[in-house]
Amino acid sequence: MTARILIVDDIAANLRLLEAKLLADYYEVIPASSGPEALHAALTQLPDVVLLDVMMPGMDGFEVCRRLKADGRTQHIPIVMVTALTDSVERVRALEAGADDFLSKPVDDATLAARLRALLRVKQVQDAWRQRASTARELGLETPAEPETGMAGARALVFAETEEEVAAIAEILEQDAIEVQQVTQAQAAGDALAGGGFDLGVLALASEGGEVLRLASRLRANAATRDVPVLLIADATQKALVLRGFDLGANDHALRPLDPNELRARARNQIRRKRYQDRLRNELDRSLEMAVTDALTGLRNRRYVRRHLEALLRTDEVAVMLLDIDRFKSINDTHGHSVGDAALKEVAARLRHHLRAADVVARYGGEEFLAVLANASAANVMMVAERLREAIEIDPLRLDDNLSLPITLSIGVAVGGPGIPADDLVDQADRALYRAKQEGRNRACLAE
Ligand SMILES: [Mg+2]
Repeated sequence: MTARILIVDDIAANLRLLEAKLLADYYEVIPASSGPEALHAALTQLPDVVLLDVMMPGMDGFEVCRRLKADGRTQHIPIVMVTALTDSVERVRALEAGADDFLSKPVDDATLAARLRALLRVKQVQDAWRQRASTARELGLETPAEPETGMAGARALVFAETEEEVAAIAEILEQDAIEVQQVTQAQAAGDALAGGGFDLGVLALASEGGEVLRLASRLRANAATRDVPVLLIADATQKALVLRGFDLGANDHALRPLDPNELRARARNQIRRKRYQDRLRNELDRSLEMAVTDALTGLRNRRYVRRHLEALLRTDEVAVMLLDIDRFKSINDTHGHSVGDAALKEVAARLRHHLRAADVVARYGGEEFLAVLANASAANVMMVAERLREAIEIDPLRLDDNLSLPITLSIGVAVGGPGIPADDLVDQADRALYRAKQEGRNRACLAE
């Protein structure tokens, strides 16, 4: 996996050492020797990971970290603090500043490699989502919601083999108002996570460890759990298992004896990241929905119904109906556009109500709708058309207590099957619609 790593250290010898290690693993390296230089490089070159020295004159690593995490353009870039400090207060400070992890100097090669791979894997997934969400935004869609900072509503699953350890971990997480489910069986833990709704899985390695690693690997293989962050709890002597865990998909780890503040900070960071990714995904879903929906009526739009019709015509007999509101222009001219819009919405709602769920009805033009019905015979679809015509005519549109507006539809119907181009079928329906208008409106005609 090739990637660009920004390394930041005020001592040139440290930079060179780290650079040599990373180049040996075929990473691209961007060196920076001060905080301001690092901020500039991060913004202009958008690295995939930042390895950040803590102790630097002027702007220290905590401040650089805070600034990168506060900037929407760089907040998604994982940051690993590299520090000679080992005391718990400093570690928690690094995590509180938004760091994804920290490594102690001198940096252990195997640990560095495993952490980078784990962080890059997550970043690749996030980049894919960011790309798709930003494409959707360019199509003219809404801006994303502000990130949530609190942990309220977050859910974590905690798995350990003993009741005591599960309860101890749960108690720590609950201080951040995280809702915790406690499990002591690996199978049950996997099943619960697959059920969905979790923002974090905390898995404690037993002395053997194999079961937890199998679970971690299973979570990554399953689409329902692939994006749930996994935080391992381990003994200092279980380093090999932890590194293996990272390669199998774990995102972070904390060592026994647990430092409650450190575990909380790590859990919060993982949950924040998960929520960021969820937000991108929801934004994309909404954008896709909007891309195929007519904003006024909530029906499918022209682009969608055309694709749908083309797809159906490859294999099926299809009936299409063009439905046009009679004398719509005079509604607009007499009562104004807001009444015209209300009429469109009401007609749309009635059409949807009277069609089957599998039928697609779209707003096709100004006051024109197109309905596509799969596997409908001509006789059948004419009955449906008649029902729709009646459904509009029977109740005048009530706009308020004083204004009720009679509305009618003219409908052109055509039926075709594989081999007929979608354009031809819609043209036939259009000519039938024209006939319906010629013959006095408020009627349905079948194409000849
Ligand atoms: Mg330094």
